[in-house]
Amino acid sequence: MPSSKSDRPMPPDARQALEQAALLCQQRGARLTELRRRVLEIIWNSPAPLGAYAILDILRDEGRPGAPPTVYRALDFLLEQGLIHRLASLNVFTGCRQPGSHHGGQFLICQECGLVDELSNPRLEELLQNEAAIRQFEVLAQTVEMLGRCPACRNGVARHAG
Ligand SMILES: [Zn+2]
Ligand SMILES: [Zn+2]
Repeated sequence: MPSSKSDRPMPPDARQALEQAALLCQQRGARLTELRRRVLEIIWNSPAPLGAYAILDILRDEGRPGAPPTVYRALDFLLEQGLIHRLASLNVFTGCRQPGSHHGGQFLICQECGLVDELSNPRLEELLQNEAAIRQFEVLAQTVEMLGRCPACRNGVARHAG
């Protein structure tokens, strides 16, 4: 009987994201340590974005003794490499679907079920960059968050966690 570490199989996009992350880090000479990789995996395996303490709880459940700074450093690394985005309004982290390209992030966030959808329209990015450039503003980070309700919640059919 094969022993499995987790009850749920990893979603295909999570598996793909991890493979892509490993490749990108290799190309950049960045060290994707086991902990950094595991944090990224936890974020991708979660149906909704997670905060640092939720990630820490999962790591502790796995028997990894970790202090918050360790997790914050791993998250900083993943942010620097563009593998995840931070949603400031909720202080949670979500996996990036286009980690190879340098971009900010525009998100639709469902306030009821926590679903996050990353938009990927280059025209939005361009528009925002142009608006900043007109004002001679140097952009260091860019995140647009649209809060609301997803179609499933609007129709009352959202699956609630737990
Ligand atoms: Zn992204
Ligand atoms: Zn929803």
